Amino acid sequence: MSFIEDARWFTAAPTANAPDTPTPPGRVTLVGAGPGDPELLTLRAVKALRGARLVLYDHLVGKEVLRYVAEDADLIYVGKESSHHTLPQESIIDLMVRLARSGRSMVRLKGGDGFIFGRGGEEAQALVEAGIAFDVVPGITAAQGAGACAGIPLTHRDHAATLVFATGHLRGDNEVALDWEALARPRQTVVIYMGMGTLPVICEQLVCHGLPAGTPAALVEQASLPGQRCITGTLQDLPQLAQQHRVRPPALIVVGEVVALQPQLMRGMQASVM
Ligand code: SAH
Repeated sequence: MSFIEDARWFTAAPTANAPDTPTPPGRVTLVGAGPGDPELLTLRAVKALRGARLVLYDHLVGKEVLRYVAEDADLIYVGKESSHHTLPQESIIDLMVRLARSGRSMVRLKGGDGFIFGRGGEEAQALVEAGIAFDVVPGITAAQGAGACAGIPLTHRDHAATLVFATGHLRGDNEVALDWEALARPRQTVVIYMGMGTLPVICEQLVCHGLPAGTPAALVEQASLPGQRCITGTLQDLPQLAQQHRVRPPALIVVGEVVALQPQLMRGMQASVM
């Protein structure tokens, strides 16, 4: 496997075509890598990874997942946020289009599901505009991974009839742009992605908009990975618990009555078989 750390300098391999023959464009497969544990990949994702000659992957893709890529494939790392080699979204799209136009098919690998807070929609639109064919392989999104691995059923007939996925990411003007009234409804589970930086604002706004301060809430860090932690509390004490336990991204915020079931379910999941 050849790792290409700085994607800006990656150029397509010359094709074997005669100079006058136009090269048919490659095909892009947008693959969801799941929350990190490679056993949570779909069979279709594994098949796509095994068959790929070129893989462009993001920072949230679990290291173990990359083991399914063939030894002699090219791997391009396009997304580590803190890295100097980060490519802005437009450059990732440019790179994909350039490589596909040069005849290279590729897997575009994203953490979780590419169509859930993964900018897969934007990439798919750009591919349509560029006339490049693509397929989409779904992945287990972080919320599902966290629910299953940390023992939080995201819906429950007695506690939550609706489930909302939201992003706590700041807008350009430093505001968390969320419909707080809709999020503060009773009998609902709210899962917030990218919310660690804005956790105090999120908890405060949910209480201001009507949720009791004692509403159960959890942080699930590194869901499905060996370092997974689940910290439970309430809307009132969650920001302080996050500091105390030094919770770091990637982590999800889960709010709702279902969180109160977590200790009981976790006991069952950890119990040894008699
Ligand atoms: N497309 C991804 C989400 C990308 S947004 C998906 O479907 O899961 C990035 C955010 O996802 C992180 O900030 C974090 O909130 C969440 N996330 C991703 N992987 C996670 C994991 N293993 N454990 C907890 N949260 C995770």
